[in-house]
Amino acid sequence: MSNKVRVRFAPSPTGGLHLGGVRTVLYNYLFARHHGGDFVLRIEDTDQNRFVPGAEDYILECLHWCGMQPDESPVIGGPYAPYRQSERKSSYRAYAEKLVEEGHAYYAFDTPEELDEMRARFKSEQNPSPQYDHHLREKMRNSLTLGDDEVTRLISEGVPYVIRIKMPDHETVQFTDMIRGEVSFNTATVDDKVLLKNDGMPTYHLAVVVDDYTMKITHAFRGEEWLPSAPVHILLWKYLGWMDSMPKWAHLPLILKPDGNGKLSKRDGDRLGFPVFAMNWTDPRTNDFTQGFRERGFMPEAFVNMLAMLGWNDGSGQELFTMEELIARFSMDRVHKGGAKFDFEKAKWFNHEWIKKSPAERLLPDVKTILAENNISITDDRYLLQVIDMVKERCTLLTDFYAQSKFFFETPAAIDTENIRPKWSPDKESFFIGLQDILATLPEFTATAIETAFKELATARNIKVGELQLPFRIMLVGGKFGPAVFDIAATIGKSQTLLRIRNGLSQLA
Ligand code: GLU
Repeated sequence: MSNKVRVRFAPSPTGGLHLGGVRTVLYNYLFARHHGGDFVLRIEDTDQNRFVPGAEDYILECLHWCGMQPDESPVIGGPYAPYRQSERKSSYRAYAEKLVEEGHAYYAFDTPEELDEMRARFKSEQNPSPQYDHHLREKMRNSLTLGDDEVTRLISEGVPYVIRIKMPDHETVQFTDMIRGEVSFNTATVDDKVLLKNDGMPTYHLAVVVDDYTMKITHAFRGEEWLPSAPVHILLWKYLGWMDSMPKWAHLPLILKPDGNGKLSKRDGDRLGFPVFAMNWTDPRTNDFTQGFRERGFMPEAFVNMLAMLGWNDGSGQELFTMEELIARFSMDRVHKGGAKFDFEKAKWFNHEWIKKSPAERLLPDVKTILAENNISITDDRYLLQVIDMVKERCTLLTDFYAQSKFFFETPAAIDTENIRPKWSPDKESFFIGLQDILATLPEFTATAIETAFKELATARNIKVGELQLPFRIMLVGGKFGPAVFDIAATIGKSQTLLRIRNGLSQLA
C-alpha cells in the first residue's frame, strides 16, 4: 500500500495569522516533509461575509517568511486546481442534492425572520439558544414537514432555500484522533448544519469534506476549535460513501494565554505587550493595527522553532532545532493533548539563541534593513559583518541591533557623563590627554596594541586600569554597554577613537 501522504492547510482568509494558525501550518508541513508527502494550501473562502481583502496574500507571505512552501496552492496551481473554494462553487451542489435524495439532508425554506421567531419562541431556561436540530426541524418549513408537491412548487417558483444535513436523533459518532485517541459524540447534541446556502455556495462543512476527498487528502490536522464540527464531517464522509478514503484526523491543542485559562487571543497580546500574529496586520475594515513577530524582530527560524516546541518535543530535552531537524524528528504521537501556555520570555529566548548561532552573513540583510530604517546606510558589508559578530550576543531581537551597533557607524553626540563624573579626577583627565598622544603614534591599531599601551600608561600614572576602562567605554560608545572596549577602539579605527576621546574630554570639562 503506497498511499502518498497529502496534508492541507485550509485557512479562511479572514485576517492576520494567529500564531496558533502558523503552528497548524507547521505541523502539517513537518508531517508532509517527514513522510515525503505533499503539502497543499487551500483557501476556504466560501463565507463571503467574512472575506477580508489582503488576507490571502498575507497568508502566502507568511508561509514564505517561515520557509514553508506549499506544493500546491492558488498561486502555483497543481493537479487539483483551483485551490480557492469560491472558484470551485459549481462542484458542490451535486453532492448536496445526492444527500437529499438519499434522505441524509433536506431543503429548508425558512426565512431569516422565521428563524429568529423560532429562536425566540423556543428559548427557555433549559434551552437558552435553540438550534435547528432533530427536535425543532419538525416545527419548521422544510422538505421533511411539507409535502412533496409543495416542495416542488416552492423550488419551481424560485423561493430561496438552503440544504441542511439531517443529523440522526441519537447516534454515536466515533473516530480515532491521532492525538486524542478515541473520540465520540452523541448526534442529539449537534444541530442540522447548513450544507448549501441559498446562493448555491457551500458552507465550510460541505466544502471541506468534498475537497478533502477530491484532493485526496490523507491526513487532516487542524485546531482543537474544530473538534465540535468533526461529527458533522464524519457523517458526511459516511453518507457520501467515502469512508474508505477518509483522512486520519488530529485536532491540535490550543495555545493558551500565559496567565489564567483559555485560548491566547489578540487581546491578550495587546494587554501584555507581545505580538500574537506572525506579521504586521492592519484590518482594512477597521484600520485596527496588530504587530507581528516578524516586525517585532523575530527570526523566522526562531519563530518556527518556538512554535514547534509549543505542544511537541522529541523526548531528548533538545530545544533548538533547524527546520531540517524538525522534519527529521517530528511525529504526531509526540504532540501533547493538553494546551500549551504561551510564554513570551521563552519566545525571546529562542530568538536570542538563534541570533547567537546564526552566522553574520545570515543576519546581514535583516540588520541592514533595521539600520536603514534608522537612517544608517551601509556601504561596507565587510565592516558590518565584523560588527554583527561583535554585538550579536547582546541582541535578543533583530531590532536590538540598532541600539547595540549604532556607535560603530555614528560618533555619539552626547555621552553619558553622569556615569563618569562621580569618579572623575584631574589625574584621569590627564591620563586621557596622554593616551591620545600614545594612540596617535601606535604603528598598528589592533585591540592588543591598544590594550597594551593603555595598561602601560595606567601603570605609569599609578591609576587602576579598571577605573579607566569605564570612562573610555562611555567616550567611545556613548553609554555603559557594548562588547570589549579595546575591540571597539580597533574596529572604529584610530581617527574615530581619537576624536571620541577628544569629544569626551570636552563634555567632561
Ligand atoms: N477553514 C477552516 C479554518 O479557517 C479550516 C478548518 C479545517 O482545517 O478543517 O480554519
